[in-house]
Amino acid sequence: MPGTPRLSGLTDASLRLLTSQKFVRGTAMGFWHTGYGEFHEPVGLPQFKPQPGRFLCTQCGEVHSSQDEMFRHRLEAHPLYRPVMLVQGRELGTNRVRITQPLLAADVEIAHCDRASLNGSDIPIFRLPHELAAAASGICRVVLSKDGADANFELDFRIASSKDLEGVEEQFKRIARGSRLDTHVIEKFIAATEEFNTAVGYDDGICAYLYGVLAKEQAGGSTLPYNAYEGKFNKAAEELAAYDRSLAQTIGSLVTFHFNQFQESARLSPESRVGRVSARYSDWIESPDSLGQYTTGMDELEGLVTDRETEHILGWASRPLSDLVKESPAIEKFLNHLSAEYDRKKLHILLGQLYAQLGDVERAMRHAKTLRNVSPFQGWAEALIKMLRGG
Ligand SMILES: [Zn+2]
Repeated sequence: MPGTPRLSGLTDASLRLLTSQKFVRGTAMGFWHTGYGEFHEPVGLPQFKPQPGRFLCTQCGEVHSSQDEMFRHRLEAHPLYRPVMLVQGRELGTNRVRITQPLLAADVEIAHCDRASLNGSDIPIFRLPHELAAAASGICRVVLSKDGADANFELDFRIASSKDLEGVEEQFKRIARGSRLDTHVIEKFIAATEEFNTAVGYDDGICAYLYGVLAKEQAGGSTLPYNAYEGKFNKAAEELAAYDRSLAQTIGSLVTFHFNQFQESARLSPESRVGRVSARYSDWIESPDSLGQYTTGMDELEGLVTDRETEHILGWASRPLSDLVKESPAIEKFLNHLSAEYDRKKLHILLGQLYAQLGDVERAMRHAKTLRNVSPFQGWAEALIKMLRGG
C-alpha cells in the first residue's frame, strides 16, 4: 500500500515531528484518564461482549443458545448455595465487570436472594434490574443475601456515547494518517481524545495496542522491553472486545491473529484481510490438503493499524500459493530473522503448505516437522507429513 503510513519505527518523519513539538518528558501530560502509561499491566477486567446465540455456563462450561435457557440451566443443574446474578445470560463472579453497552432491566436476572443492596442502601430486589439499567457511569456495588449468605458484585459502568466513540475514531484516523507512530503520537492522540470521556475504555484499548506495537518493534521511543508487547496486546484485546466498532474489531482481529487464535480472529472481523487470512489458516489447520481461500486487498483503516511484521505475513498469506514460488527465499529469510515465536509458526505453516503444493517434499517436511511437537499445531504437522508420505 504505497503512500499509506503504517505503524513502524522511528523515521525521519517522526524525528521531524518529534523536534517540531514542544513535548517535555516526565511531565504530567497524557494518561489523564488512567493515571498510568505504557507501564500499566493488564488488569484482566472481564467485559461483556454479547455473542449472539452463545451463553456459556461458568459452572460447567455448557453452552446455551438463549439467555432464558442459560438461566434455567443455572438454576436446575447447579445447586444454589449463594445468591446469583446473571447479566445478559452471563453469571457474575466476584471480579469487577465493566459494562460498556447499555443494559435493559430484562438483561439482569437474580436468583436465590431475599435481600438486596445497591451502593450500601437496601432496595427491593425487583427494583435492582431497573436501577442497573439506568446506570451510565460509575461503580455499582451490589450485595445479594439469602439466609445470611452474601454475594458481592461490582459493575463498572462505562456506557460510551456514539458521539464519543466517533470522536475517538476521528482523532485516531487524523493522527494515524498524518505521521509515523511513536510515543509522542500516542500522547497527542490521548490529549486529543480527552473530551470524549465516556469512550475511555475504547481509548485505553487503542493506546495499549499502539504501545504494544512500539514494544514489539522496539521503536518510536518506547522504553518497554520487547516481551512487554504481549501484555499490551492482551490488554488491548480485552478492552476492545466490549466495543462493536470496526476499529476495535480490526485491532482485536490483528491481536488474535498474532497469537495464532485464527478462528477468533476470523470471527471478529470476517471481512478484513486479517480475518480472511485467519480463515485460510483455520482451513489449513483443519486439513492441509485444503487450498485455503485467498483474497488480497484491505481497507485503509486496516492498513493504518497493521504493524510491519504482520504486514509482511498478511501480504504473503493473502496471495495464491502459486504467486509465492519466487518469494519463498525471501519468506525463509524473514522467518530466520523473526523474534516472535507466534509469527514463526505462521510462516512454518505457510511454507509447509507452499512446498507441499509445489511437490517439494523435503522442504515441506522440514517445516511440518518443526511444528510436530508444538501445540496446537501437532495435528496440522502430522496430517501434512502423512499427506507428503502419500498416506
Ligand atoms: Zn452449567
